[in-house]
Amino acid sequence: MDITKLVRSNILELKPYSSARDEFSGGASIFLDANESPYPTQYNRYPDPHQRKLKQRIGQLKKVNENQIFLGNGSDEAIDLLIRAFCEPGQDEIVIPQPTYGMYSVSASINNVITRAVTLTSDFDIDIHKTLAALSSNTKLLFLCSPNNPSGNLLNYEKVIELIEKIDGLVVIDEAYIDFTSSSGFVPLLNKYTNLVILQTLSKAWGLAGLRLGMCFANVEIISILNKIKPPYNISVASQLIAEERLNDEEGKDSRVREIINQRDRLASELIKLKSVERVFPSDANFLLVRIKNAKEAYITLLERGIVVRDRSTVLLCDDCLRISVGTPVENQKLLKELSQL
Ligand SMILES: *Cc1c(COP(=O)(O)O)cnc(C)c1O
Repeated sequence: MDITKLVRSNILELKPYSSARDEFSGGASIFLDANESPYPTQYNRYPDPHQRKLKQRIGQLKKVNENQIFLGNGSDEAIDLLIRAFCEPGQDEIVIPQPTYGMYSVSASINNVITRAVTLTSDFDIDIHKTLAALSSNTKLLFLCSPNNPSGNLLNYEKVIELIEKIDGLVVIDEAYIDFTSSSGFVPLLNKYTNLVILQTLSKAWGLAGLRLGMCFANVEIISILNKIKPPYNISVASQLIAEERLNDEEGKDSRVREIINQRDRLASELIKLKSVERVFPSDANFLLVRIKNAKEAYITLLERGIVVRDRSTVLLCDDCLRISVGTPVENQKLLKELSQL
């Protein structure tokens, strides 16, 4: 697929901002090029706009070439930049299976880009016929979230492949929760499909939601377009340093993930025993979608007891559903106790 044909013409022609640190690379001991303060405060220098060291580490971890990695201020920045790079406002279209993560359609609306919603099947999987029917010659992006938020399930692998192969645009697979599954996801297919874009994040399994670091993996052409339009210093010095340090503790991350998976499975088996709970949807993520009698009331009662969960009861296919993040063993126990008293 010719990626340049998908890019908006103004973006293709854009001459990007060239920062002081872009124009100079090499060794120097006196930096008088960027109007920074010369006095060390730990943060007096601008960050590396290309985040080279951090990308090196991420590349090792994910077995991805460094020039196939884009880093954003959260995945949310990558979502926004993908829309701005590829979708001509008022003309191009984005297809979004529903229900899913809300930021895709919010970002599309902010950019005045048309969205086509396609309802997932009743078990929250891709409806292949409806999705193919929603694609048109104006479709530039298809967002797929796997494991899906708010349902927690992985999407069917073969259906995803079929869509990647049939679409004349990009397929963006959001794998924010991929560490909580045994699936290796779609990163291994990065070099097979030029129209494949994968989003991951340090916000969930890595426990760094406050840091704001999202990762986007794709072929070099797509990555260079994102780099061209991002704000030059989008990842702060502090974020880069902290992320580099934390990414060295993969074992720590893995052991916390194992604990969360254990707690998730225990929570699911305890929840289904409760009178008020009608269904606990299977989850490959760090949360559970739970159908419960009088969800709205349950939500308010939990709040009164100091526990906040996500009320999804007005969301498509999620009638009477709460989305509950897996907490610590003590927190989960408290949740079960309060729910059992409803
Ligand atoms: C939590 C979440 C993210 C994370 O977004 P960040 O901006 O990286 O914190 C991305 N996608 C989905 C589906 C999520 O649920």
